[in-house]
Amino acid sequence: MSVGEATATATSSDVLALDDIHVYYGAIHALKGVSLRVGAGEIVTLIGANGAGKSTTLRAINGMNRPRQGSIRFQGADITTAPPHTIVKSGIAQSPEGRRLFPRMSVTENLEMGAFQRTDKENFQEDIDRVFELFPRLYERRSQKAGTMSGGEQQMCAIGRALMARPKLLLLDEPSMGLAPIFVEKIFEIILTINGQGTPVLLVEQNALMALDSAHRGYVMETGRITLSGAASELKTNEAVQKAYLGLD
Ligand code: ATP
Repeated sequence: MSVGEATATATSSDVLALDDIHVYYGAIHALKGVSLRVGAGEIVTLIGANGAGKSTTLRAINGMNRPRQGSIRFQGADITTAPPHTIVKSGIAQSPEGRRLFPRMSVTENLEMGAFQRTDKENFQEDIDRVFELFPRLYERRSQKAGTMSGGEQQMCAIGRALMARPKLLLLDEPSMGLAPIFVEKIFEIILTINGQGTPVLLVEQNALMALDSAHRGYVMETGRITLSGAASELKTNEAVQKAYLGLD
């Protein structure tokens, strides 16, 4: 079912296009025919309950879980069976759920790790300056060991690290998870800024309200399937979405 404008048809402006993706964990059929698109300049959000298959969708895109069926295209190229390092090199960067920083390394060293696959090292300083401009808090903490920072600061560092790859598509897995409300607002502000600077974003979130407020379009996922899709503003006023994900009756 689609809310508002149609979202299922591929167009040439698609940065990312998943078509009928099926992923299994052994005998568990985790994704049962997922199709979604991210267009140039868009923030697209994927919302849904625990276990719906959101992280698995990201793992299919970043090459960690190879689909058994279906296709994934990135900037027109078929990446369905490409290995993770090739996918990173092609321009997809992810800030993973749980952050996974190098806890004993400093903030600056963690950011440097984000650029390790790049060949154009001459722009490195410019990019680290851009990250510090987006996250002044990280500049203040630049020499601190990442593992000793607060959850919100670590999340900023993880997003900053992903940006150091100069991604052409940014995947974010639950960037607001476990953060104090003030950090949640800050993180969403920064996502809007990053997108405003031209990077398309696929945002997986359980905080459906914030996600739908920030995104252009959204997909609702239930038990391995997309059950609703459309403009974020329309999903926000959809009765079923309000009941299931926005806590409204
Ligand atoms: P959450 O918000 O809790 O991370 P999710 O929407 O991201 O949920 P997934 O983590 O993608 O959901 O899980 C989708 C389904 O696949 C669930 O039924 C889950 O139990 C199963 N699953 C996920 N990872 C594995 C794994 N490594 N082995 C077996 N089953 C898995």
